[in-house]
Amino acid sequence: MTATLLTNLRIWNGEDLSPADALRLSGGCIAAVGDGAELAAGHRGRSMDCGGLTAVPGLIDAHVHLELNPDHRKAPEKQAGEDRLPQMAERAEAMLRAGITTGRDLGGGAWLELNIRDRINAGELLGPRLLCAGQPITSVGGHCHFWGGEAADALQAEAVLRRQVARKVDLIKVMATGGVMTASSKPLNPQFDLPTLTQIVGLAEDHGLSVAAHCHGTEGIRIAAEAGVRTIEHCSWVGKDGWASDYRPEVAATVAARGTWVSPTISRGWQRFLDNPETKTLGRIQGAFSDMLARKVPLIASTDAGIPGVYHHQLPLALPVFAQIAGLTPAQALRSATSAAADALGIDKITGRLQPGLAADLILVHGNPLTDLSALAEPAAVWARGIAVKAPE
Ligand SMILES: [Zn+2]
Repeated sequence: MTATLLTNLRIWNGEDLSPADALRLSGGCIAAVGDGAELAAGHRGRSMDCGGLTAVPGLIDAHVHLELNPDHRKAPEKQAGEDRLPQMAERAEAMLRAGITTGRDLGGGAWLELNIRDRINAGELLGPRLLCAGQPITSVGGHCHFWGGEAADALQAEAVLRRQVARKVDLIKVMATGGVMTASSKPLNPQFDLPTLTQIVGLAEDHGLSVAAHCHGTEGIRIAAEAGVRTIEHCSWVGKDGWASDYRPEVAATVAARGTWVSPTISRGWQRFLDNPETKTLGRIQGAFSDMLARKVPLIASTDAGIPGVYHHQLPLALPVFAQIAGLTPAQALRSATSAAADALGIDKITGRLQPGLAADLILVHGNPLTDLSALAEPAAVWARGIAVKAPE
């Protein structure tokens, strides 16, 4: 495989601005990050003058559902069939072209997204690196029970988990509270008690898998953090008076102390909160983020793509909204979608930073995303595992 030298870059390496101005890509990996003139000496292969574009690591969306069609307003009633695969492949390709080089799929009913994952890995389809959870473990009639992962007790939860392991999932998803999409469940209510969730986390660990827990209500957030899940999805602090009405600092302190990552699934549609600043909800959500950040609760970017109106390729458009709602600087928001996300997902030895030895997952953008995140909206170039998906003009 010939090497490619990219020169005349501003490089944000996943953590900070780098003094380097050139990258050498070889064999699907980043071979070197350094000075353009130095790297050019002895370089054999292609060279590309990038005209001052900014390079950042490929983006990571920590919460998507490839199986779900964002144009459908209702929860699916039956198991998806293989006829759904072409559409899912299109969604994966759209993600990649938008600069999302890794996606974590947090649930489907028929393991179709694992089929997409494997065909991307085999080079048969264009798409992001996918980490897939398969069927989420849920209570009987609980959130997304239609995906087939119902469990009445710890023993049944174990059976659901073993079924996912047999299908070669990358992690386990648990619905720790009810959700909005499932009428028979309530976002406020926990679906599993602490002993059951602790057992699920332990069994997942035995298989080398982490657990992502869907949590809206505060009691579910507490149980999930204490049980030792890796990521808390949504983390909505739902109370009797609605979204973010039950923020409890002592629970946030537990989340921070356990090093549990929070994945708040803020999509571009949350702009509606910013457009109506008089609503109580925005103030409550922003208050929760402000206290979580003060407590150093680690955050990662995610969108829940696939739910109604949330398209799979729109993480770049969601990041400015996420930054504004959570009170993040552009650099913090970028880390949440690159290096921090890779750390949270346990793939920091693979991707998430522009450093030698990691996968050549990167995007080039016009403008400066460190001052204006909207620069991410239309990447000028995208490489995924060294393959130029979109090349600079
Ligand atoms: Zn979801």
